[in-house]
Amino acid sequence: MNLVADLHTHTIASGHAYSTVKEMAAGAKQNGIEVMAITDHGPNMPGGSHLYHFGNLRVVPNEIEGIRIIKGVEANIFDGLGQLDLPVEVLANLDLVLAGFHVGAGYNPRSKEENTAAMINTMRNPLVDIIVHPGNPEYEVEINEVLQAAKEEQTLLEINNSSYYSRPGSKERCLEIAKKAKEIGVKLSLGTDAHYFEQVGKFDLALELVKKAELTADDILNTSVQQVLDFVAAKRKVKESLLDRN
Ligand SMILES: [Zn+2]
Ligand SMILES: [Zn+2]
Repeated sequence: MNLVADLHTHTIASGHAYSTVKEMAAGAKQNGIEVMAITDHGPNMPGGSHLYHFGNLRVVPNEIEGIRIIKGVEANIFDGLGQLDLPVEVLANLDLVLAGFHVGAGYNPRSKEENTAAMINTMRNPLVDIIVHPGNPEYEVEINEVLQAAKEEQTLLEINNSSYYSRPGSKERCLEIAKKAKEIGVKLSLGTDAHYFEQVGKFDLALELVKKAELTADDILNTSVQQVLDFVAAKRKVKESLLDRN
């Protein structure tokens, strides 16, 4: 399977990542990736970027080293209502909004029911495009309910390559998500969650899971540049309409 886009990466602006945007783009090129989203951590993550970082992303070129750059954020789910740690005006001006649970950054693990409700409420937020690492066992969720909501809201779920290293126990849960997603027709996004330039586009472990779950290119967003750009454009339209309403 040919993966052409990496939709989850961090630069030095995340505080605990170690490469610049330019270095990350070079890493993408080296590893055969054509589209890279920069998705630094939202302000509630210790060391995460200030709001000004996201407001000023327009100064970053749309293409670096021949790599198409998508400007985004990995926002922190802030509460059970699915609110995020950035205001609507900032989120609506970004190309890609990833959202997820992070310990110490707003919403700490609660019961399975509460986590599920918080995740589904986040998916219902029209500013959110992709839920990151939903297979994290630290935040147990009812997978069937989450997948059903993903289908209704057209919010994608992520298979996170780094989870295998940093979120032990993710493997089994991600496999379950992948198999059920295919069954009910929910598209998945693959992200490396790279925190260093050499990791951009390295999907080794996620690809193992893709094989096990018997996913095809049609089940995954990152398999076509056009598909990624169409997804971002469609979501941008929704965001712009929200800005108009404000
Ligand atoms: Zn994360
Ligand atoms: Zn991340």
